[in-house]
Order: sequence, then C-alpha cells, then structure tokens
Amino acid sequence: MRAVLVGPPGAGKGTQAQILASELSIPKVSTGDIFRANVSGGTELGKQAKAYMDRGDLVPDEVTNAMVRDRLAQEDAQGGFLLDGFPRNVAQAETLNKILGDLDERLDAVLELRVDEEEVVKRLSGRRSCRNCGHVQHVDFDPPATAGVCDACGGELFQREDDKEETIRHRLEVYREQTAPLVQFYENEGILLTIEAVGSVADVTARAKAALGNRS
Ligand code: ADP
Ligand code: AMP
Repeated sequence: MRAVLVGPPGAGKGTQAQILASELSIPKVSTGDIFRANVSGGTELGKQAKAYMDRGDLVPDEVTNAMVRDRLAQEDAQGGFLLDGFPRNVAQAETLNKILGDLDERLDAVLELRVDEEEVVKRLSGRRSCRNCGHVQHVDFDPPATAGVCDACGGELFQREDDKEETIRHRLEVYREQTAPLVQFYENEGILLTIEAVGSVADVTARAKAALGNRS
C-alpha cells in the first residue's frame, strides 16, 4: 500500500501511521521526524530546516521534496509506505505524483483525519515526544506510567518547541491556508478517504483500517 495521511497538526497522523505501518509491514515516512532527526544530528539539512520548524512555517519545497525523493527511493519503501506530514501543499502533492511516476508507481489512497481545532489544540499542548525513539504520548490522553519517561523505551519525554501555544496557532493557520486544499486535490484524483479522528486511538485505527481496507 502506498498511502498518505493528511490532517491538521495534532490530528493523530503520527500515532496512527506508526500503528498502521507496523501492521502492514511497511515503513512510516514522516517528514517531521526526518527533519527533527537532522536537527538533533546537527546536519546541513537540519540547519536549513530548523528556523522554519521553530516558527511553525513550512520548510521550503526544494529542500523537502529532495529529501522525500531520496527516502522513497530506498529499498524498504519499494513495497509500499505510509507518508505522514507530506505533502503539505499542492506543489508538494504534484511533486509526489512525479516522484512516484518516475518509479512507475502511484498512490493507492489518501486518508484524511478530521478533527476540530479545539481538540487539536488540546492534543498538541499536552503532547510529549520521546527524545530517544520518537514515540508520542499525551499528558492526559495517553499518560506515561512514570512522568517524563517513555512507555515504549524508557527514554526522556519532552515537549516539542513548536508545541507551545503561540506556535500551535500559527501552524493551524499554515494548515488552513496551505495544506487543507490537498483535500480537494485528492478528491479530484478520486483517492480521498475521510474518517472522523475522534474517540480513542483504537477507535480511530479501526476506522482507518476499514477505510483503507480495499485499497492496497
Ligand atoms: P500529528 O502527527 O497529526 O501531529 P500525533 O499523532 O503526534 O499528531 O498526536 C498528537 C497528540 O494527540 C499526541 O500527544 C497523541 O498522543 C495524542 N492523540 C493521538 N490520537 C489521539 C486520540 N484518538 N485521542 C486523544 N489523543 C490522541
Ligand atoms: P510535523 O512533525 O509533521 O508536525 O512537522 C514539524 C515541522 O516540520 C513542520 O511545522 C514544518 O516546519 C516541518 N515539515 C514537516 N513536513 C513538512 C513538509 N512536508 N513541508 C514543509 N515542512 C515540513
């Protein structure tokens, strides 16, 4: 299956992508995770991306598209992938079609996770991410067994710089203006699937699987 998860920041894309990718035995390709790994590793790519990420703006398309092209050319993505956080605007979506076309591939589905803004603000302001393995929890909705410690690997949980209130608001604006038009773009391509991403993580996973069911 070659699929994209789309939805506002905090919709649960990363959470669901991790579960679905593991069940489908395909890689989860999260551009946010790749950028963050590059920022912490101090690479040239990380240096180019950091200021945009801290402000909650999109990293320029040339940088992002080149990174995704490289990632999708890797061996483990040849049998399918789940993209989380890419594409984030129509130009990136067009580039993705081109990248896949060059590999003689196409997207099977785009899954839209729909959640209202009040809920995503609550989810983002309580999100905690593991510095070691990237696992994501929530202080109220998925509290760690020991405060500040990742349930998955025992690493340190921290609050992302861009999950502070002011940056959250800006990221939601960026989503409305630049990313939301992708819903119509993929509707026009005939591959859009939409689910309500509210309720428990397990409920959302069940809806996602039912929607994606016959698309692989
Ligand atoms: P995204 O990748 O779309 O930005 P995440 O998967 O990181 O979103 O989820 C944002 C926050 O919301 C995390 O703290 C996560 O634990 C929490 N979360 C994810 N799904 C749900 C859900 N169904 N109900 C409540 N909280 C959720
Ligand atoms: P995320 O982890 O998906 O919330 O992404 C965190 C940040 O990484 C975003 O606010 C952007 O600054 C950057 N980013 C992630 N994916 C993209 C993308 N497809 N295009 C541009 N910037 C991105």
